[in-house]
Amino acid sequence: MTTAEQTYLRTELEQRRERLHEALHSPVADASLSQLLSAVDAALSRIAQGTFGLCELCHDSIEAERLLADPLVQFCLDHLTSAEQRALESDLSLAARIQRALLPKPDLAPTGWDVRYHYQPAGVVSGDYCDLFETDGGLLLMLGDVSGKGVAASMLMSHLHATFRSLAEGGLPLDRMVEDANRIFCKSTLAGQFATLVVGRVTHDGSAEFVNAGHLPVLHIHGDAVTPKDSTGVPLGMFCNTRFPVHRLTLAHGDTLFLYTDGLTEARNSAGAEYGLQRIQTLAARHTLMEPAGLISECLGDLLSFQEGTKQTDDLTLLAVRRAE
Ligand SMILES: [Zn+2]
Repeated sequence: MTTAEQTYLRTELEQRRERLHEALHSPVADASLSQLLSAVDAALSRIAQGTFGLCELCHDSIEAERLLADPLVQFCLDHLTSAEQRALESDLSLAARIQRALLPKPDLAPTGWDVRYHYQPAGVVSGDYCDLFETDGGLLLMLGDVSGKGVAASMLMSHLHATFRSLAEGGLPLDRMVEDANRIFCKSTLAGQFATLVVGRVTHDGSAEFVNAGHLPVLHIHGDAVTPKDSTGVPLGMFCNTRFPVHRLTLAHGDTLFLYTDGLTEARNSAGAEYGLQRIQTLAARHTLMEPAGLISECLGDLLSFQEGTKQTDDLTLLAVRRAE
């Protein structure tokens, strides 16, 4: 766990201790409050002694995201009681269900567009963000990657989801929407937490605009060529006040925008080589006329043969949006 995270938790614990002291003065205070107070005191003294975040049994580090969620935990995942393990598994599967419910409907069929996505967490939950929905101003598409993995990243992912769903109703220009989302995101994250992100809007006449905040290049697949559109800004959450320039282009009938996360480009084979940007561009160039479902399945097939059976280590998301012929 980083020093910043520990400092944050110490402040958190000190605040909780104060609250407990206040609650203990209530006429209906019960014994569980004084037990909690001792647990908080013990955690604070572990911070003071430098043993905070170490498993009491094996002395290895306890998973940082678990400490952030509950600074009173004293055992690593391997050394939970079986009751604790069952509770954790059920929490995780609930979190995964909530996250799946946030994804766009798989059968989404906006008029004039052919869309498809593939969302594949490396663990139970994902730090990738993917959304697609229609507004009065056009079809909005979002794809991003929150720093870190697991539950902490998935919480930030759902935070982004809620933020953009709310902001989208205001009909703001795209750059304003991302600037507002960035300010909100900044205020609710710890130092070092950020999200790379593409936010796009396409309309029925083929005009497309998008902001690429520190994310991998968006591929514009058109005619018989592929044009990568690079990032034009910093990731969300790095600076509270920053501008996000907008890319604008026109999509002809049959043109596709293809977005992906680093679960694709940074996937490694058994020799340790990366899948890389070039390979995805070459693959897209071989299939310029293909509809989104076919393109995504070609991409997954190519990734699978590249990986030669090595395990997926990062969340993977692919999104293709094609203007209907
Ligand atoms: Zn342990």
